[in-house]
Amino acid sequence: MHINTIIEPDIAWQEEALCAQTGAEFFFPEPGSSVREAKRICGMCEMRPACLEYALNNDERFGVWGGLSEKERLSLRRLQE
Ligand code: SF4
Repeated sequence: MHINTIIEPDIAWQEEALCAQTGAEFFFPEPGSSVREAKRICGMCEMRPACLEYALNNDERFGVWGGLSEKERLSLRRLQE
């Protein structure tokens, strides 16, 4: 069986995620610490739109997803409501 047939379509983008290569520590920083490095990596990631959409659809509360911090995603959600 080819691997793509067992990956759910909405998480297939994670195969190409830059953060999968850099490690999660930038993306889930301690409260109050900088998210600048995570955002820099997201800025180079081709999966950014899919990542952000996934985070919004799945109500991911913690960490940087799709180049946006927790607070920024919260603001975006409020704008969309
Ligand atoms: S946009 Fe950022 S958090 Fe999302 S997959 Fe890419 S590097 Fe990871």
